[in-house]
Amino acid sequence: MMKVQSKMKQIIAILCYLIPIASYSGGHGHEAEAHVHGVASMNWILEGTELSIVLQSPMMDLLGFEYRPKNNDEKLLFAAMTDKLKNPTKVIELIGGECRLISANISNPFREETDHEEESSTLSHEPSHSGITAKYDFLCQQPSQFQAMNVKLFNTFSDFKVINAQWIANGKQGGAELNQHQHLIKVR
Ligand SMILES: [Zn+2]
Repeated sequence: MMKVQSKMKQIIAILCYLIPIASYSGGHGHEAEAHVHGVASMNWILEGTELSIVLQSPMMDLLGFEYRPKNNDEKLLFAAMTDKLKNPTKVIELIGGECRLISANISNPFREETDHEEESSTLSHEPSHSGITAKYDFLCQQPSQFQAMNVKLFNTFSDFKVINAQWIANGKQGGAELNQHQHLIKVR
């Protein structure tokens, strides 16, 4: 009897570990603990007609705090932040290519913590840093006409300072450090 129970606990522990990682399709989890405030990353690939973008940012730069929202005001701030991220026009402007949004997924790093509160020790589960991963998928009718991506996050979130961008567009690789003054990625 004891053995069966402990086996079940193991399985549950493994599932709890796997599910959050699987749902953050852009890769997330513990790497967020090593982030630097003011520095986000954006990786995107345009291949065929599919454009996918993964943005990873410290919660601090989007929200001004990194703990689980405690009161109503903080919960409203959090909801407003995810609403902005879900709206692609507040994140990027795509020039050329006739791309339209297929899906936008925003990770919520606090949801899983709440679900597993009972199982985790209080020590290991109040991380000092929290990050957010936003993933966007576009379908582009004219990918060969894709010209540029204008990153609008600096206007939308005033605490954004640096975004390290890397991309592969129509087989060509590029990278740039973006900031308030330099936020246009030209690919042709
Ligand atoms: Zn942090």
